[in-house]
Amino acid sequence: MQLSHRITHIAGEEGDGWEIYFKTQELKAAGIAVTDLTIGEHDTRTDPDIVTAMSHAAQQGATGYAAIPGIPELRAAIADRVAARTGVATTAENVLIFPGGQAALFAAHMAVLDPGDRAAFIDPYYATYPGTIRAAGGVPVPIQTGPRDAFRPTAQALAGAAGARSLLVNSPNNPTGAVYDRATLETIRQAVLAQDIWLISDEVYDTQIWEGAHLSPRALPDMAERTLVIGSFSKSHAMTGSRVGWMIGPSKAMSALMQLPLHTTFGIPGYIQKAALHALGKGDRFEAQIAAPFARRRQLAQDVFAGHSHVRMVPSQGAMYFLLDIRDTGLSGRDFAFALLKARNIAVMPGESFGAAAAGHLRIAMTIDDDRFVDALHQIADFIREVTP
Ligand code: PLP
Repeated sequence: MQLSHRITHIAGEEGDGWEIYFKTQELKAAGIAVTDLTIGEHDTRTDPDIVTAMSHAAQQGATGYAAIPGIPELRAAIADRVAARTGVATTAENVLIFPGGQAALFAAHMAVLDPGDRAAFIDPYYATYPGTIRAAGGVPVPIQTGPRDAFRPTAQALAGAAGARSLLVNSPNNPTGAVYDRATLETIRQAVLAQDIWLISDEVYDTQIWEGAHLSPRALPDMAERTLVIGSFSKSHAMTGSRVGWMIGPSKAMSALMQLPLHTTFGIPGYIQKAALHALGKGDRFEAQIAAPFARRRQLAQDVFAGHSHVRMVPSQGAMYFLLDIRDTGLSGRDFAFALLKARNIAVMPGESFGAAAAGHLRIAMTIDDDRFVDALHQIADFIREVTP
């Protein structure tokens, strides 16, 4: 029996980009010790206090169907947080809870695209973006950025979004670590207003800022009515496995969008939502503690690669990764990553997994303890010397 074109073409011709990650999982399952710097997951687990709140909520009976748009207390708490951080009036009606930022990204595209509509996004990009757009029936349109512009979109590049229904941006950015400044956001705003399109702003790394400040484009003039913001507890609260995230948008759009979870997930577990509420209550200091190891390791990485003649670390300003420019080796990111895995049992993501604009780079996740991290970086630096002609 034939499957739908939609399901068989989600990954697209570029592949899903996760080959190295799956290979690493295979090696680990076979008992081979691999230093895994592939995915964006903390090396600590969810705080025991949050897990206790989750268990307590379940024991108290939050195990039935939960409110589909999200429990009112959690929606209100997220609205308050966003209003406090951005200065934009936000109420519970502007918030929908989803099983993670990824599901919210899919929902946002479902909300704004009709089948065959073009949906723009900034390249380099989080690896799921083109597939998410295809899954929602859209046609992905990458907007190139490059090292020369610190991986920020220029007005000229954004002209490529003409004819699209939406533009997806991500700051702090995975994989580049770019944090968009006010001028970049203003350029994005101008493009979105001139083209009269939706802006989808993926802000799941908003608590991981190493330089500058996080600014949400929803806070710019005339943007709240055309912006859908994606948030998540995964990165800010080390709750990746709990699958809890959110979308912020105009209340009318949110009530129409409610039909999607009603007909798919039917909401997310009440005990997870109560745990998320508890996690939010732990405040900014807790969030800073979760982010601190990445800031520290970013500095360690800068120390390792400073003065190395064949490699350039792209200075990340936020998020738990950095890019390494290995174009001097003459190898693609993909060939280098496979060779490194074979030679040293170190797994990193090829830049190509995140789009054409990151070709010849590696994305390194700063997600193992400091000593092993520094050791792995020295080994990568040695390997670069070995393979550079
Ligand atoms: N957006 C970006 C840029 C990401 O890097 C990720 C995960 O790595 C997500 C969204 C999805 O995160 P989650 O579904 O765990 O909230």
